[in-house]
Amino acid sequence: GRAIGVFTSGGDSQGMNSSVRAVVRMGSYLGCKVFYIKEGYQGMVDGGDNIVEATWASSSGIMQRGGTVIGSARCKEFREREGRLRAAENLVIKNITNLVVIGGDGSLTGANLFRQEWAGLLDELLEKGRISQQQRKECSHLNIVGLVGSIDNDFCGTDMTIGADTALHRIVEAVDCIATTASSHQRCFVMEVMGRHCGYLALVGALATEADWVFIPEWPPEDGWEDTLCRKLANERSMGQRLNIILVAEGAVDRKGNPITADMVKKVVTDKLKYDTRVTVLGHVQRGGKPTAFDRILGSRMGAEAVLALMDATPNTPACVCSLDGNQTVRVPLMECVERTQAVQKAMSENNFEEAVRLRGKS
Ligand code: ATP
Repeated sequence: GRAIGVFTSGGDSQGMNSSVRAVVRMGSYLGCKVFYIKEGYQGMVDGGDNIVEATWASSSGIMQRGGTVIGSARCKEFREREGRLRAAENLVIKNITNLVVIGGDGSLTGANLFRQEWAGLLDELLEKGRISQQQRKECSHLNIVGLVGSIDNDFCGTDMTIGADTALHRIVEAVDCIATTASSHQRCFVMEVMGRHCGYLALVGALATEADWVFIPEWPPEDGWEDTLCRKLANERSMGQRLNIILVAEGAVDRKGNPITADMVKKVVTDKLKYDTRVTVLGHVQRGGKPTAFDRILGSRMGAEAVLALMDATPNTPACVCSLDGNQTVRVPLMECVERTQAVQKAMSENNFEEAVRLRGKS
Protein backbone atom coordinates (compact mmCIF):
# COMPACT_ATOMS: atom_id res chain seq x y z
CA GLY A 1 0.00 0.00 0.00
CA ARG A 2 0.91 3.64 -0.26
CA ALA A 3 2.34 5.63 2.61
CA ILE A 4 0.72 8.86 3.75
CA GLY A 5 2.23 11.41 6.12
CA VAL A 6 -0.08 13.74 8.04
CA PHE A 7 1.03 16.85 9.91
CA THR A 8 -0.30 20.07 11.42
CA SER A 9 1.56 23.33 10.86
CA GLY A 10 1.34 27.02 11.80
CA GLY A 11 -1.10 28.17 14.48
CA ASP A 12 -3.14 25.38 16.07
CA SER A 13 -6.91 25.25 15.79
CA GLN A 14 -9.65 23.13 17.28
CA GLY A 15 -10.73 20.32 14.99
CA MET A 16 -7.25 19.55 13.66
CA ASN A 17 -7.29 16.30 15.67
CA SER A 18 -10.47 15.18 13.94
CA SER A 19 -8.73 15.62 10.61
CA VAL A 20 -5.68 13.68 11.74
CA ARG A 21 -7.92 10.90 13.02
CA ALA A 22 -9.90 10.75 9.78
CA VAL A 23 -6.73 10.60 7.68
CA VAL A 24 -5.49 7.67 9.77
CA ARG A 25 -8.83 5.87 9.61
CA MET A 26 -9.60 6.42 5.94
CA GLY A 27 -5.99 5.71 5.00
CA SER A 28 -5.96 2.45 6.95
CA TYR A 29 -9.34 1.47 5.54
CA LEU A 30 -7.95 1.86 2.02
CA GLY A 31 -4.87 -0.22 2.85
CA CYS A 32 -2.36 2.62 3.18
CA LYS A 33 0.26 3.07 5.86
CA VAL A 34 -0.25 6.37 7.66
CA PHE A 35 2.50 8.21 9.52
CA TYR A 36 2.22 11.05 12.01
CA ILE A 37 4.77 13.72 11.32
CA LYS A 38 5.08 15.51 14.67
CA GLU A 39 5.76 19.22 15.21
CA GLY A 40 4.93 20.22 11.65
CA TYR A 41 7.76 20.87 9.19
CA GLN A 42 10.25 20.82 12.08
CA GLY A 43 9.53 17.13 12.62
CA MET A 44 9.84 16.47 8.91
CA VAL A 45 13.25 18.18 8.78
CA ASP A 46 14.49 16.50 11.99
CA GLY A 47 13.08 13.04 11.14
CA GLY A 48 13.81 10.18 13.57
CA ASP A 49 11.16 9.76 16.25
CA ASN A 50 9.16 12.61 14.80
CA ILE A 51 7.86 10.38 12.03
CA VAL A 52 5.97 7.43 13.48
CA GLU A 53 3.47 5.03 12.05
CA ALA A 54 -0.09 5.70 13.17
CA THR A 55 -2.42 3.00 14.38
CA TRP A 56 -6.18 2.82 14.60
CA ALA A 57 -5.91 2.85 18.42
CA SER A 58 -3.50 5.78 18.61
CA SER A 59 -6.01 7.93 16.77
CA SER A 60 -8.75 7.14 19.28
CA GLY A 61 -9.86 9.67 21.84
CA ILE A 62 -8.24 12.66 20.15
CA MET A 63 -11.29 14.08 18.40
CA GLN A 64 -12.58 15.56 21.67
CA ARG A 65 -9.36 17.45 22.33
CA GLY A 66 -8.52 20.99 21.30
CA GLY A 67 -5.27 22.08 19.66
CA THR A 68 -3.27 19.42 17.87
CA VAL A 69 -2.00 16.34 19.70
CA ILE A 70 0.75 15.72 17.12
CA GLY A 71 2.18 19.18 17.72
CA SER A 72 2.67 22.17 15.47
CA ALA A 73 5.59 24.51 15.00
CA ARG A 74 7.00 27.28 12.89
CA CYS A 75 10.11 26.04 11.14
CA LYS A 76 12.79 28.33 9.71
CA GLU A 77 14.82 25.49 8.17
CA PHE A 78 11.97 24.41 5.90
CA ARG A 79 12.05 27.85 4.28
CA GLU A 80 15.59 27.02 3.04
CA ARG A 81 16.32 24.44 0.35
CA GLU A 82 18.77 22.64 2.65
CA GLY A 83 15.97 22.06 5.17
CA ARG A 84 13.64 20.76 2.50
CA LEU A 85 16.40 18.43 1.29
CA ARG A 86 16.59 16.88 4.75
CA ALA A 87 12.80 16.69 4.90
CA ALA A 88 12.72 14.86 1.54
CA GLU A 89 15.35 12.40 2.75
CA ASN A 90 13.35 11.65 5.91
CA LEU A 91 10.21 11.00 3.88
CA VAL A 92 11.99 8.76 1.37
CA ILE A 93 13.44 6.69 4.23
CA LYS A 94 9.86 5.83 5.19
CA ASN A 95 8.70 5.64 1.59
CA ILE A 96 6.21 8.48 2.16
CA THR A 97 5.12 10.11 -1.09
CA ASN A 98 1.71 11.37 -0.01
CA LEU A 99 1.22 14.25 2.41
CA VAL A 100 -1.79 15.78 4.10
CA VAL A 101 -0.87 19.24 5.36
CA ILE A 102 -3.24 20.86 7.85
CA GLY A 103 -2.47 24.54 8.34
CA GLY A 104 -2.82 28.09 7.07
CA ASP A 105 -1.76 29.72 3.82
CA GLY A 106 1.95 29.73 4.78
CA SER A 107 1.99 26.00 5.45
CA LEU A 108 0.15 25.25 2.21
CA THR A 109 2.54 27.46 0.20
CA GLY A 110 5.50 25.58 1.68
CA ALA A 111 3.94 22.24 0.77
CA ASN A 112 3.34 23.28 -2.81
CA LEU A 113 6.90 24.53 -3.21
CA PHE A 114 8.18 21.25 -1.76
CA ARG A 115 6.15 19.30 -4.29
CA GLN A 116 7.48 21.38 -7.19
CA GLU A 117 11.07 20.87 -6.04
CA TRP A 118 10.65 17.19 -5.20
CA ALA A 119 12.30 15.64 -8.31
CA GLY A 120 15.27 18.00 -8.01
CA LEU A 121 15.65 17.28 -4.29
CA LEU A 122 15.65 13.53 -4.96
CA ASP A 123 18.23 13.87 -7.73
CA GLU A 124 20.47 15.75 -5.34
CA LEU A 125 20.01 13.15 -2.60
CA LEU A 126 20.85 10.39 -5.09
CA GLU A 127 23.93 12.23 -6.31
CA LYS A 128 25.15 12.67 -2.74
CA GLY A 129 24.55 8.97 -2.06
CA ARG A 130 21.93 9.71 0.62
CA ILE A 131 19.26 7.64 -1.15
CA SER A 132 19.48 4.65 -3.52
CA GLN A 133 18.51 4.33 -7.19
CA GLN A 134 15.66 2.11 -6.05
CA GLN A 135 14.36 4.75 -3.60
CA ARG A 136 14.69 7.47 -6.22
CA LYS A 137 12.50 5.40 -8.54
CA GLU A 138 9.90 4.36 -6.00
CA CYS A 139 9.43 7.87 -4.65
CA SER A 140 9.52 9.77 -7.94
CA HIS A 141 6.35 11.83 -7.30
CA LEU A 142 5.08 13.64 -4.22
CA ASN A 143 1.33 14.13 -3.85
CA ILE A 144 0.04 16.73 -1.44
CA VAL A 145 -3.43 17.71 -0.28
CA GLY A 146 -4.15 20.68 1.99
CA LEU A 147 -6.73 21.20 4.73
CA VAL A 148 -7.27 24.64 6.15
CA GLY A 149 -6.93 24.81 9.92
CA SER A 150 -7.35 28.36 11.17
CA ILE A 151 -9.52 29.97 13.83
CA ASP A 152 -9.80 33.21 11.84
CA ASN A 153 -11.80 31.85 8.88
CA ASP A 154 -9.38 33.84 6.74
CA PHE A 155 -8.81 31.53 3.77
CA CYS A 156 -10.23 32.09 0.28
CA GLY A 157 -11.63 28.86 -1.11
CA THR A 158 -13.58 27.51 1.83
CA ASP A 159 -16.75 28.71 3.54
CA MET A 160 -15.41 27.62 6.92
CA THR A 161 -11.89 26.90 8.09
CA ILE A 162 -11.40 24.13 10.65
CA GLY A 163 -11.47 25.76 14.11
CA ALA A 164 -13.38 28.98 13.35
CA ASP A 165 -16.66 27.68 14.74
CA THR A 166 -15.12 26.70 18.08
CA ALA A 167 -13.34 30.04 18.41
CA LEU A 168 -16.65 31.75 17.74
CA HIS A 169 -18.27 29.72 20.51
CA ARG A 170 -15.49 30.71 22.94
CA ILE A 171 -16.14 34.37 22.09
CA VAL A 172 -19.89 34.06 22.53
CA GLU A 173 -19.43 32.33 25.92
CA ALA A 174 -16.99 35.02 27.05
CA VAL A 175 -19.24 37.89 25.97
CA ASP A 176 -22.21 36.26 27.71
CA CYS A 177 -20.14 36.03 30.92
CA ILE A 178 -18.97 39.63 30.67
CA ALA A 179 -22.50 40.81 29.95
CA THR A 180 -23.86 39.64 33.31
CA THR A 181 -21.30 41.62 35.31
CA ALA A 182 -21.46 44.58 32.91
CA SER A 183 -25.19 44.77 33.46
CA SER A 184 -24.89 44.68 37.26
CA HIS A 185 -22.62 47.72 37.26
CA GLN A 186 -23.96 49.49 34.16
CA ARG A 187 -20.59 49.20 32.47
CA CYS A 188 -19.36 49.34 28.92
CA PHE A 189 -17.04 46.54 27.84
CA VAL A 190 -14.71 46.75 24.87
CA MET A 191 -13.60 43.26 23.88
CA GLU A 192 -10.71 42.50 21.58
CA VAL A 193 -11.08 39.31 19.58
CA MET A 194 -8.76 37.58 17.10
CA GLY A 195 -8.74 38.32 13.38
CA ARG A 196 -5.75 40.13 11.89
CA HIS A 197 -7.02 40.18 8.33
CA CYS A 198 -10.49 38.83 8.69
CA GLY A 199 -13.41 40.18 10.71
CA TYR A 200 -15.43 36.97 10.69
CA LEU A 201 -15.08 36.19 14.41
CA ALA A 202 -15.77 39.78 15.49
CA LEU A 203 -18.69 40.28 13.14
CA VAL A 204 -20.50 37.02 13.72
CA GLY A 205 -19.62 37.16 17.43
CA ALA A 206 -21.20 40.62 17.63
CA LEU A 207 -24.36 39.46 15.88
CA ALA A 208 -24.70 36.45 18.15
CA THR A 209 -24.30 38.45 21.37
CA GLU A 210 -26.34 41.58 20.63
CA ALA A 211 -23.20 43.70 20.79
CA ASP A 212 -23.76 47.43 20.23
CA TRP A 213 -20.89 47.98 17.85
CA VAL A 214 -18.16 46.06 16.01
CA PHE A 215 -14.88 47.08 14.40
CA ILE A 216 -13.52 44.80 11.66
CA PRO A 217 -10.57 45.11 9.26
CA GLU A 218 -12.63 44.92 6.06
CA TRP A 219 -15.07 47.67 6.88
CA PRO A 220 -13.45 50.67 8.55
CA PRO A 221 -15.92 53.12 10.11
CA GLU A 222 -16.67 56.49 8.53
CA ASP A 223 -14.53 59.39 9.73
CA GLY A 224 -16.17 60.89 12.79
CA TRP A 225 -17.20 57.43 14.01
CA GLU A 226 -16.45 58.51 17.57
CA ASP A 227 -19.58 60.67 17.72
CA THR A 228 -21.77 58.14 15.94
CA LEU A 229 -20.63 55.39 18.31
CA CYS A 230 -21.31 57.47 21.42
CA ARG A 231 -24.74 58.55 20.15
CA LYS A 232 -25.63 54.92 19.60
CA LEU A 233 -24.42 53.86 23.06
CA ALA A 234 -26.27 56.71 24.75
CA ASN A 235 -29.38 55.85 22.80
CA GLU A 236 -29.23 52.25 24.01
CA ARG A 237 -28.87 53.42 27.59
CA SER A 238 -31.78 55.84 27.24
CA MET A 239 -33.96 52.93 26.15
CA GLY A 240 -33.15 51.13 29.39
CA GLN A 241 -30.14 48.99 28.43
CA ARG A 242 -27.82 48.67 31.42
CA LEU A 243 -24.67 47.71 29.59
CA ASN A 244 -22.78 48.15 26.35
CA ILE A 245 -20.66 45.63 24.49
CA ILE A 246 -18.25 46.62 21.71
CA LEU A 247 -16.22 44.04 19.81
CA VAL A 248 -12.91 45.00 18.19
CA ALA A 249 -11.09 42.64 15.82
CA GLU A 250 -7.31 42.59 16.32
CA GLY A 251 -6.80 43.97 12.83
CA ALA A 252 -9.44 46.72 12.96
CA VAL A 253 -8.42 49.94 11.22
CA ASP A 254 -9.83 53.33 10.26
CA ARG A 255 -10.26 54.55 6.68
CA LYS A 256 -6.60 55.58 6.52
CA GLY A 257 -5.46 52.16 7.66
CA ASN A 258 -4.47 53.27 11.17
CA PRO A 259 -5.21 50.67 13.85
CA ILE A 260 -8.31 51.05 16.01
CA THR A 261 -7.52 49.36 19.31
CA ALA A 262 -9.73 48.43 22.23
CA ASP A 263 -7.89 51.00 24.39
CA MET A 264 -8.61 53.75 21.85
CA VAL A 265 -12.29 52.87 21.84
CA LYS A 266 -12.35 52.82 25.63
CA LYS A 267 -10.82 56.31 25.72
CA VAL A 268 -13.45 57.63 23.31
CA VAL A 269 -16.28 56.26 25.46
CA THR A 270 -14.84 57.45 28.79
CA ASP A 271 -13.93 60.90 27.46
CA LYS A 272 -17.25 61.58 25.78
CA LEU A 273 -19.77 59.66 27.87
CA LYS A 274 -17.96 59.13 31.19
CA TYR A 275 -19.25 55.55 31.27
CA ASP A 276 -17.37 53.09 33.44
CA THR A 277 -15.59 51.30 30.60
CA ARG A 278 -13.36 48.22 30.73
CA VAL A 279 -11.22 46.45 28.16
CA THR A 280 -11.03 42.65 27.92
CA VAL A 281 -8.60 41.01 25.54
CA LEU A 282 -9.76 37.44 24.92
CA GLY A 283 -6.46 36.29 23.47
CA HIS A 284 -5.59 32.60 23.53
CA VAL A 285 -8.80 31.61 25.27
CA GLN A 286 -10.24 31.66 21.76
CA ARG A 287 -7.83 28.93 20.65
CA GLY A 288 -8.50 26.78 23.68
CA GLY A 289 -10.88 24.13 24.81
CA LYS A 290 -12.82 21.35 23.20
CA PRO A 291 -13.86 21.60 19.56
CA THR A 292 -17.54 22.09 18.80
CA ALA A 293 -19.49 19.31 17.11
CA PHE A 294 -19.32 21.35 13.90
CA ASP A 295 -15.50 21.45 13.91
CA ARG A 296 -15.26 17.76 14.82
CA ILE A 297 -17.43 16.83 11.87
CA LEU A 298 -15.84 19.37 9.52
CA GLY A 299 -12.37 18.13 10.44
CA SER A 300 -13.45 14.52 9.94
CA ARG A 301 -15.07 15.12 6.58
CA MET A 302 -12.07 17.04 5.28
CA GLY A 303 -9.62 14.42 6.55
CA ALA A 304 -11.48 11.59 4.82
CA GLU A 305 -11.74 13.61 1.61
CA ALA A 306 -8.01 14.41 1.73
CA VAL A 307 -7.16 10.70 1.57
CA LEU A 308 -9.56 10.18 -1.35
CA ALA A 309 -7.98 13.15 -3.14
CA LEU A 310 -4.51 11.66 -2.63
CA MET A 311 -5.71 8.37 -4.14
CA ASP A 312 -6.95 10.28 -7.20
CA ALA A 313 -3.83 12.44 -7.56
CA THR A 314 -1.58 12.09 -10.60
CA PRO A 315 1.80 13.71 -11.21
CA ASN A 316 0.15 16.20 -13.54
CA THR A 317 -2.79 17.33 -11.41
CA PRO A 318 -2.22 20.53 -9.45
CA ALA A 319 -2.35 20.16 -5.67
CA CYS A 320 -5.75 20.75 -4.10
CA VAL A 321 -7.29 21.90 -0.86
CA CYS A 322 -10.33 20.04 0.47
CA SER A 323 -12.86 22.59 1.55
CA LEU A 324 -16.47 23.39 2.29
CA ASP A 325 -18.77 24.98 -0.28
CA GLY A 326 -22.15 25.49 1.32
CA ASN A 327 -22.51 22.10 2.94
CA GLN A 328 -20.64 20.25 0.20
CA THR A 329 -17.12 18.89 0.44
CA VAL A 330 -15.19 20.10 -2.59
CA ARG A 331 -11.63 20.12 -3.93
CA VAL A 332 -10.23 23.46 -5.03
CA PRO A 333 -6.83 24.28 -6.59
CA LEU A 334 -4.40 24.97 -3.76
CA MET A 335 -2.25 27.69 -5.30
CA GLU A 336 -5.19 29.68 -6.65
CA CYS A 337 -6.69 29.82 -3.16
CA VAL A 338 -3.39 30.72 -1.52
CA GLU A 339 -2.76 33.47 -4.07
CA ARG A 340 -6.24 34.90 -3.61
CA THR A 341 -5.86 34.79 0.18
CA GLN A 342 -2.58 36.69 -0.09
CA ALA A 343 -4.09 39.17 -2.56
CA VAL A 344 -6.83 39.93 0.00
CA GLN A 345 -4.20 40.66 2.65
CA LYS A 346 -2.28 42.88 0.22
CA ALA A 347 -5.40 44.83 -0.78
CA MET A 348 -6.21 45.35 2.87
CA SER A 349 -2.71 46.56 3.67
CA GLU A 350 -3.15 49.12 0.87
CA ASN A 351 -6.48 50.31 2.34
CA ASN A 352 -8.26 48.94 -0.70
CA PHE A 353 -11.10 47.47 1.34
CA GLU A 354 -13.66 47.07 -1.43
CA GLU A 355 -11.16 45.13 -3.51
CA ALA A 356 -10.38 42.91 -0.51
CA VAL A 357 -14.06 42.09 -0.03
CA ARG A 358 -14.51 41.47 -3.76
CA LEU A 359 -11.55 39.07 -3.82
CA ARG A 360 -12.84 37.31 -0.72
CA GLY A 361 -16.17 36.61 -2.41
CA LYS A 362 -16.74 33.38 -4.25
CA SER A 363 -15.61 33.35 -7.85
P1 ATP B 1 -1.31 30.65 10.45
O1 ATP B 1 -2.63 30.89 9.77
O2 ATP B 1 -1.44 30.16 11.82
O3 ATP B 1 -0.36 31.80 10.31
P2 ATP B 1 0.33 29.40 8.48
O4 ATP B 1 0.36 28.05 7.92
O5 ATP B 1 0.03 30.53 7.53
O6 ATP B 1 -0.70 29.39 9.67
P3 ATP B 1 3.10 30.18 8.77
O7 ATP B 1 3.86 30.53 10.01
O8 ATP B 1 3.00 31.20 7.70
O9 ATP B 1 1.67 29.70 9.29
O10 ATP B 1 3.75 28.87 8.13
C1 ATP B 1 4.03 27.73 8.91
C2 ATP B 1 5.31 27.10 8.45
O11 ATP B 1 5.21 26.73 7.06
C3 ATP B 1 6.54 28.00 8.51
O12 ATP B 1 7.11 28.05 9.80
C4 ATP B 1 7.45 27.37 7.48
O13 ATP B 1 8.11 26.26 8.02
C5 ATP B 1 6.47 26.88 6.42
N1 ATP B 1 6.36 27.87 5.34
C6 ATP B 1 5.56 28.95 5.28
N2 ATP B 1 5.74 29.65 4.14
C7 ATP B 1 6.69 28.98 3.44
C8 ATP B 1 7.34 29.17 2.18
N3 ATP B 1 7.03 30.20 1.39
N4 ATP B 1 8.26 28.27 1.80
C9 ATP B 1 8.57 27.22 2.58
N5 ATP B 1 8.00 26.98 3.76
C10 ATP B 1 7.09 27.83 4.21
